Amino acid sequence: MKTALITGILGQDGAYLAKFLLEKNYKVYGLIRRCSNPNFGNLDYLKITDKIEFVSGDMTDECSLINIIKTIRPEEVYNLAAQSFVGVSWDQARLTTEVNSLGVLYLLNAIKLFSPTTKCYQASTSEMFGNSFENGLQTENTPFHPRSPYAISKLYAYWITNNFKESYGLFCCNGILFNHESPIRGREFVTRKISEGVAKIKLGLVNEIWLGNIDIKRDWGFAGDFVESMWLMMQQEKPDNYLISTGQTHSIRDFLEIAFNHVGIKDWEKYVKIDPQFKRPAELFVLQGKSDKAKNILGWVPKVNFEELVKMMVEEDLERLKSDK
Ligand code: NAP
Repeated sequence: MKTALITGILGQDGAYLAKFLLEKNYKVYGLIRRCSNPNFGNLDYLKITDKIEFVSGDMTDECSLINIIKTIRPEEVYNLAAQSFVGVSWDQARLTTEVNSLGVLYLLNAIKLFSPTTKCYQASTSEMFGNSFENGLQTENTPFHPRSPYAISKLYAYWITNNFKESYGLFCCNGILFNHESPIRGREFVTRKISEGVAKIKLGLVNEIWLGNIDIKRDWGFAGDFVESMWLMMQQEKPDNYLISTGQTHSIRDFLEIAFNHVGIKDWEKYVKIDPQFKRPAELFVLQGKSDKAKNILGWVPKVNFEELVKMMVEEDLERLKSDK
C-alpha cells in the first residue's frame, strides 16, 4: 500500500485528491491545522472523512512539518495547503507569504533532511503568469509576471521547488494549474458565489448577487479532473513541471448566463450588482492555458466541460439549499 500525505486536505483539491488516492488504494494522511472546530464538510461531501488519518501541523510551523515527515516518511507529499484567495492576499500579504512561500521551504527542508526519497508535488498556479501570454495563450515557457501578493508567494514556492530538485536531486514537481472549480469550491470564490447566489435567487432566498469585474476571462476546469494530473506527475520517471488547463476561456458573464439560464432565469442582469470593493487592485484580464505537454507526456485531458461544470455547481447548491430547508 502506497502512502501519501496531503497538506490542505480540508480544502477543495485536498478532498478530491484524497478520494482519488483512496480509490487507488493509498493510505492517505491529511495534515490539518489546529482549530476549535475543524470543517470536515468537503470530506463528508465525498464520504471519505473516516478513511483518512489526520495529523496535526501547520505550514508556518517548521517543527510540526519535520515531526510529521520524520514519523510518516510518506512516499508522496502533495502540498496543497495555502492562503489561496487572491483578493485577501493584498490585505494579508505577510500571512500569505508565510504560508505559501516559507511553508514550502520548511516542507522541502523536512523532506530533504528526513525522507529524501519522498516525492513532492507543489500546487503552483496560472496566477503566476499575470497578463503575460504568447499568441494569446500561456504555456510552461511563458514568462511569469505575478500581479498579486498571492501570485508572488506562489512564484517563490515554484522556484524553491525547482531549486530543491536541482540542488539536492529531490523528486519535486510543480503543477501549474489553471482555475478549477466544483460544488465544494470555497464560498468566497466567484464561481461558487454565483452558483450559490443563483440557487438562492431561484428559491426566493435572496434577490441579488454582488460581484466585481464580470468581464475578466478564465480557463475553468473541474477540480475532480485536475487532481488526476497531480498524481500522474508523481508517477513519472523524472520530476518535471506541467501546465494543466482546459484550453478554453470564458468570462464571468458567460458563467452567469449559463447558471441563470439553467434555473430558467433569462433576465439575469437585473439580479447582478457590481461593487468596486470586489475588484482587484491589479487585475488579470484573460487566462487561457495550453496543456499539450500534459496531454502528450501524462496522457491527461479534462473530461468535464465549462457548461457541464456550471450546471453541476448550480444543481448541487440547489439540492443543498433545499435539504437545508
Ligand atoms: P482551498 O480550498 O482554499 O484549500 C486550502 C487549504 O489549505 C485549506 O484546507 C486550509 O486549511 C489549508 N491551509 C491554509 N493555511 C494553512 C496553514 N498555515 N497550515 C496548514 N494548512 C493550511 O484551496 P484549493 O482550491 O483546494 O487549492 C489547493 C491548492 O492549489 C492551493 O495551494 C491553491 O493555491 C492552489 N491552486 C488552486 C487553484 C484553484 O483554482 N482551485 C488553481 C491553482 C492553484 P483550513 O481548511 O484549515 O482553512
